[in-house]
Amino acid sequence: MKLYDTKRRKIVEIIAQTPGVLKIYACGPTVYRDAHVGNMRTFLLTDLIKRLAQYQGLKVELIQNITDVGHMADDAGLGGVDEGQADTEDRILVQAGKESIDALTIARKYEESFHKDLALLNIQPATQYPRASESIELMIELIAKLIAKNHAYVSQDGSVLFDAKSFPTYGQISGNKLDELKPGYRFVGKEDSNKKFHADWALWKKSSESRTQLTWQTPWGVGYPGWHIECSAMSLKFLGNKIDIHTGGIDLRFPHHEDERAQSNAASETEVVNHWIHGEHLLFEGRKMSKSSGNVLLVSDVVQKNLDPLAIRLSLMEHRYRSQMDLTWNSINASHKTLNRLREKMQIWSNKEGKIDENYLKQFESALDEDLDTNKGLQILRTLEKDESVSEGNKYQTILKFDEILGLNLTATPENKKEITLTKEIETLLAQRVIARNEKNWQKSDEIRDQLAQLGVGVKDSNNGQEVTPL
Ligand SMILES: [Zn+2]
Repeated sequence: MKLYDTKRRKIVEIIAQTPGVLKIYACGPTVYRDAHVGNMRTFLLTDLIKRLAQYQGLKVELIQNITDVGHMADDAGLGGVDEGQADTEDRILVQAGKESIDALTIARKYEESFHKDLALLNIQPATQYPRASESIELMIELIAKLIAKNHAYVSQDGSVLFDAKSFPTYGQISGNKLDELKPGYRFVGKEDSNKKFHADWALWKKSSESRTQLTWQTPWGVGYPGWHIECSAMSLKFLGNKIDIHTGGIDLRFPHHEDERAQSNAASETEVVNHWIHGEHLLFEGRKMSKSSGNVLLVSDVVQKNLDPLAIRLSLMEHRYRSQMDLTWNSINASHKTLNRLREKMQIWSNKEGKIDENYLKQFESALDEDLDTNKGLQILRTLEKDESVSEGNKYQTILKFDEILGLNLTATPENKKEITLTKEIETLLAQRVIARNEKNWQKSDEIRDQLAQLGVGVKDSNNGQEVTPL
């Protein structure tokens, strides 16, 4: 397959360095809140690469980390800085404070919803999801190695910093040059006097006395890891120093990936990642997704509207991963209808004899192979759907094949064919919801609606009372 390689600045053929195995590292979520659909777009990019590689006969080893410590509000990345958050605070600890529970309970809570959201979008699981908090030993080893190789130093306050100038090719992914970076390039105002050079970054941070959770003892004192070192440590440990593809959102290109590359390469004395692949920003209703402005779409928002979450997947695939796109409720609604239309047809066509239409399959395969042109792939699907010269049985077999990569569950039962069996549990919940609504207890009513959604039951309120629909 061919993909756009950010570092080489062109579309290149991806060739697995280990015969038959494609090794992918994907930057995972920082589990202090639900990942929004913009984050999901990046995870979908990884999934499409994985599915396509498998389709082409490769085994895929995919490692995606869980960041549950060390991602400070000032680190560029997943979602940027939320308003009202000091830039020196650990995102997990801030959220733990807000919800009055301990840090790792917060992390496990949002880690669970991350996995739930991936499943709803039919994103195949990674080989492993190592957690940062459980990889501290690996990070300490790696940091010690970088100090020994003179790429890192212990600062006066007991933190360990990477010596940016010791890594001459710094900046090759993003095009930033060390000499041109201005002090305070990442955030305004704070210059750290412990640094030899302003662009040096922390591998390990000494903790302040007020920090009582997520700290570890190291040869340099008690502290916690920097965000960038986590990905170096976990990728090297689980995939070795020949990684084919590293994915992430475009925000992560700099400084996160640049710093990660410097650390991994300096420690391994080789170019560890062959291809850096980035997914573009997602707008929602014309504006940037951000928590502070309230313009955030979660997978659960779509489920609550009784829409198929795979409508998100379809909408996102209408655009190629590296073009900026604007997701709207209109497009999600339209995709929901499209999914149902296709599923209805697939159900009818499934009864007919047929074989794969090689001409259409070839067109589809080359669209995906050519830098994941999912938009073109979907156009080919629509043309095939309407093509009267292809038999219905052949359409079924061919589209079934497309769906191995698209992951739209096109053989699922269409909405209007689904029936709900009202179990005692469902009936009880429906009754409790009527009571909650009569008491104007909207929170309770919403909670029960969520419980019903988990049982596959959607509920709408109309003049006739509660209407039940299958999800
Ligand atoms: Zn990362």
